[in-house]
Amino acid sequence: MSQADRDLVAAIRAELASIDPARRCDRLAESAGLGSDLVMREAAVARLAVRLGRATNAGAALASRRRPKHLHAQDEGAGAQAAGDGALPPSPFDWATAALHCRLAWLRGRFLARGSLSIVTSRTHLEFVVPAAEAPVLASRLEEMGLSASWRLRRGRGVVVWKSAETVSLFLRRIGGGASLLEIEARQVSRALRGELNRVINAESANLQRSVEAAGRQLAAISVLEGSGLLGEQSFQVRSVAAARCETPEATLGELAERLEVHRSTVQRALDRLERLALLDVVAPGPRAVGGTGQHPLSADLPASR
Ligand SMILES: [Zn+2]
Repeated sequence: MSQADRDLVAAIRAELASIDPARRCDRLAESAGLGSDLVMREAAVARLAVRLGRATNAGAALASRRRPKHLHAQDEGAGAQAAGDGALPPSPFDWATAALHCRLAWLRGRFLARGSLSIVTSRTHLEFVVPAAEAPVLASRLEEMGLSASWRLRRGRGVVVWKSAETVSLFLRRIGGGASLLEIEARQVSRALRGELNRVINAESANLQRSVEAAGRQLAAISVLEGSGLLGEQSFQVRSVAAARCETPEATLGELAERLEVHRSTVQRALDRLERLALLDVVAPGPRAVGGTGQHPLSADLPASR
């Protein structure tokens, strides 16, 4: 992640940690979500724990656990290891009977304690790193919220993952994300637009390149066939297409067809025939090319163009 992206992730986390749930049920739920093994390495989360009445020594815990600045924001909250640090154990949380507001508060706590958000060029990715046994439970709770996630085990821990930027945004919005979240979304949109624009420009320039190359080959073929006299033996249709191509080298097949009042496929067939004939003519020049008479032998090799 770039520094700007890391700053944005830190801003989102700080924004979510600064939410002060008004209801007591939500404060308890969020505290439960923070978990009993909360490692407070972010000031905003440490302050939240204090506000929730979780830890009386949060400040000391923070001071002793402050991490060097160079570590990635992506890792924030992800590497939490079992450590009490004197934090009061949270009351257990009963998801099954909990109201929606409590569930969202619990999820916010879980995200702040165990969530790892990463925003890399075109991909937004959020994972919860939790005890192995919790992973399927958390995944099914998220599924219940309409935010289905995949999960797997990684080095003995459970990892619950979202890779869809849309789902990540939806989750962050539901747990209370605000201004910083809007900024992530704005970035995603501009990245998507840039990507799409580049794709269109590339496709168009590739098409254009192909058309220019094809027209070049056709003009060369016509010139070869004119030189060998073979062009004059072609059907009226093929000769008309050849003449039209010479007059308008830049015209598309559609434009040639319109001008000649024939179907596009007729133009295509005529041009293909000219190219094939010219290729054979160059490889094996017919009698006319060396001053002979009579019909060019290659004329018989290819069925007359309709
Ligand atoms: Zn509640």
